[in-house]
Amino acid sequence: MDMQVEEGVYFIQGQDEFIPDSHVYVLGEPGSDDVTLIDAGLMGKTGYKVGRLEALGFDPKAIKRIIMTHCHLDHIGCLPELREALDSPELWVHESEAQALEEGDERVVYGMDMFKGMCQAQYGLKDGVFTFQVQRKLKDGDELFLGGTTWQVLHIPGHSPGSIALYEAQRKILIPGDTLYADYAIGRFDLFGASGPQLKDSLMRLASLEIEILLPGHNRIMKGVPQGYAAQVAKQWAPYLR
Ligand SMILES: [Zn+2]
Ligand SMILES: [Zn+2]
Repeated sequence: MDMQVEEGVYFIQGQDEFIPDSHVYVLGEPGSDDVTLIDAGLMGKTGYKVGRLEALGFDPKAIKRIIMTHCHLDHIGCLPELREALDSPELWVHESEAQALEEGDERVVYGMDMFKGMCQAQYGLKDGVFTFQVQRKLKDGDELFLGGTTWQVLHIPGHSPGSIALYEAQRKILIPGDTLYADYAIGRFDLFGASGPQLKDSLMRLASLEIEILLPGHNRIMKGVPQGYAAQVAKQWAPYLR
């Protein structure tokens, strides 16, 4: 269910089909003109996402930017149509996926050739629809002032080459994309540009943070995350991430 997670942090639940639709998080407050979306979601979800934004009290035209946790299809598929429905929001992506997006290299978006063929047929997608100019190329260690609070950018490759987490240290809120989920789950590491060992290192890095609220790209969100949760997940998965 959509809701306010914390002050200035809102959750719009993905609406999964046979392909998942990523959650969208909204940073900022209704009525403000500094509103950020984290991820866009799957193709065809613009009406749903805009409707949910309005139900939460946001003016879709006030969305200033969309930050991608990474560029897989279930997160970026909706972006071409969503940007048209909004008022030219900027696109911010980690530098190691931004260049491919600008050049129309869609290998990260689709992850594997078989999946690309299937999705292009199913959704009528042409080569090159996921080509975008990226207004800000994010780097590890960047501090982003979004909707009144500071969010740190952590580059956490493994699930994809340019996966990032956003971390708000004051309230210990982590938005880890598809790297870490609730219920001791992690993202897959068999797609283009993925790496088990990198994912292991990235999980270890997340394990060094204090996490109170976990807002992943799919499945349930967690409030009151048990201490050491990320470390336990990293330890549990380590034997498979070699
Ligand atoms: Zn993903
Ligand atoms: Zn995903």
